[in-house]
Amino acid sequence: MTSKEELEKRHELEMIRIEKVMNLAKDEKLGKIKGGEQMVAFVDEDACIGCDQCPTVCDDNAIEMFSKPLKNPLIEVSSNRKARILRDECTGCRLCVLICPTDAISMIER
Ligand code: SF4
Ligand code: SF4
Repeated sequence: MTSKEELEKRHELEMIRIEKVMNLAKDEKLGKIKGGEQMVAFVDEDACIGCDQCPTVCDDNAIEMFSKPLKNPLIEVSSNRKARILRDECTGCRLCVLICPTDAISMIER
């Protein structure tokens, strides 16, 4: 029978393997996104769910959250937050594009 230690070791190795695969996928995705000084991040407000992840990863304080009234009056939501890019602060690093869970952020030409 498999011991507890063996199971823990297997679990640890599997976590390392998964992390490697995730990092490779991230690098691959990053490689496909054009960034740099000539580019600036853009948020599709309709796709943004206000999760607060992009301002957390942005090292340049180039993203602010704001409240936007809901389009549908049937749904009662006290705070409908959205992200907004501060164009002058954005350095085009692309980190926010990677982190956004709804693919609401893209890079556009300045
Ligand atoms: S591209 Fe980089 S600097 Fe620009 S908003 Fe996104 S995380 Fe911030
Ligand atoms: S990470 Fe995406 S969904 Fe979350 S607040 Fe930023 S733009 Fe909106």
